[in-house]
Amino acid sequence: MKIELLPALSDNYMYLVIDVDSKEAAIVDPVEPIKVIEAVRKHGVRLTTVLTTHHHWDHAGGNEKMVRLMPGLKVYGGDDRVDALTKKVTHSNTLKVGSLTVKCLFTPCHTTGHICYYVTKENSTEPPAVFTGIYLCCVTY
Ligand SMILES: [Zn+2]
Repeated sequence: MKIELLPALSDNYMYLVIDVDSKEAAIVDPVEPIKVIEAVRKHGVRLTTVLTTHHHWDHAGGNEKMVRLMPGLKVYGGDDRVDALTKKVTHSNTLKVGSLTVKCLFTPCHTTGHICYYVTKENSTEPPAVFTGIYLCCVTY
């Protein structure tokens, strides 16, 4: 698993999660789609999946444009208010990005439909990663 941190807006991040084996990738909260496309090209990977932590514009606000630029993307999220949602997920649902397993953790707090994504690689000693979509600005209630 390779993770590239992509700064977005003034105080936010998008995460490009790459399965090195299959060159398949997912993007977490692609609020700035053009930057995502540049990173996808740079790494020569196939982006298949959008993981949306919550529906706020600074996280989900790029989804519509992302899908327009790359038709066929699967867009996951835990809230009907997530733009361009193709598959609503709930607690402990799992999905695959190449050989990576993404487990959805329902964490209603910051928003009522918040999902954290826990990513592991099976039969591997690689450390797992969790994407929460929560930053300092969000933690203060
Ligand atoms: Zn938020």
